[in-house]
Amino acid sequence: MSEKNSLNNKAHIVEIFNSIQGEGLFVGEMQTFVRFSGCNLNCAYCDTNHNKETSKEMTVKELANKLKEKTAKIVSLTGGEPLLNYQFIKELCTKYKANYYLETNGTLSEKLQNVIESIDTVAMDIKLESATGEKNRFEENQKFAQIANKAKTFFIKIVFDKNITEDEIENCIKIAKNNKTQIILQPKMPLEQGFEPDVVFNKFYEKYEFVRLIPQTHKFLNIR
Ligand code: SF4
Repeated sequence: MSEKNSLNNKAHIVEIFNSIQGEGLFVGEMQTFVRFSGCNLNCAYCDTNHNKETSKEMTVKELANKLKEKTAKIVSLTGGEPLLNYQFIKELCTKYKANYYLETNGTLSEKLQNVIESIDTVAMDIKLESATGEKNRFEENQKFAQIANKAKTFFIKIVFDKNITEDEIENCIKIAKNNKTQIILQPKMPLEQGFEPDVVFNKFYEKYEFVRLIPQTHKFLNIR
C-alpha cells in the first residue's frame, strides 16, 4: 500500500483511554485502550459501547498522533471486534511502534492472518452459546487459535455461567490442548444466585491443568 493510500485508511474509534487491564493473563497492568466500533457477533451479555454513532472516524495518522500523547507501553486493541479493521491495524502497527495486545472474539482467522506478525499478545475469547446466545464456532476458534499461537503470548478467555455444557467444556479444552495454551475462566458477573464457578473450574482442571479462574477485577475496583 502506498503512503498516500495508507494515510486515507480510516476506522471508527469509540474511545482511547489509559486504564488498568481488568481481565486475563495481564490483569493489573497499565494499558492504553483503543476501542473500535462494530462487531460481527451479538452476545446476549454485551455491555460494551461499540456503536458507530458514538464513534469518531480517524485516520491511521490521527490515531498514531493521539497514541503519542498516551503513556502506556502496551496498546490494547479492543472493541467491538478490532479485526473488522485489520487493514487499519496493520498500518497502525507500522506507523506507531508499541507492544500490541489484541482482544478478539476469535472468529475471523483470515483477518488475523494479515496482522499476526505485528501483534505481541492475542487474548482470544471463545464465545459460548450457553452464555452469549450466539452459536458455538469451535472449528473457527480452532483455526484462529493456530494462527494466534504465532504471537509471543497467546491465551484463551472464556466467559461462562451456570448453563455451560459438557460438550462446550470438552471443545474448549481440545482447542487449548491443541495449541498448548492457558485458559482463563471468567464467570459472568454479577454471579447468579447459587452458582459456584469453582465447580466449573474443577471440571476443566480435571482434564487440563493450565487453567485459571479470574473474575473481571475492574468491576470490583470500580475502574473502567
Ligand atoms: S464479541 Fe464482544 S463486543 Fe462483540 S457482541 Fe460479543 S461481547 Fe460484545
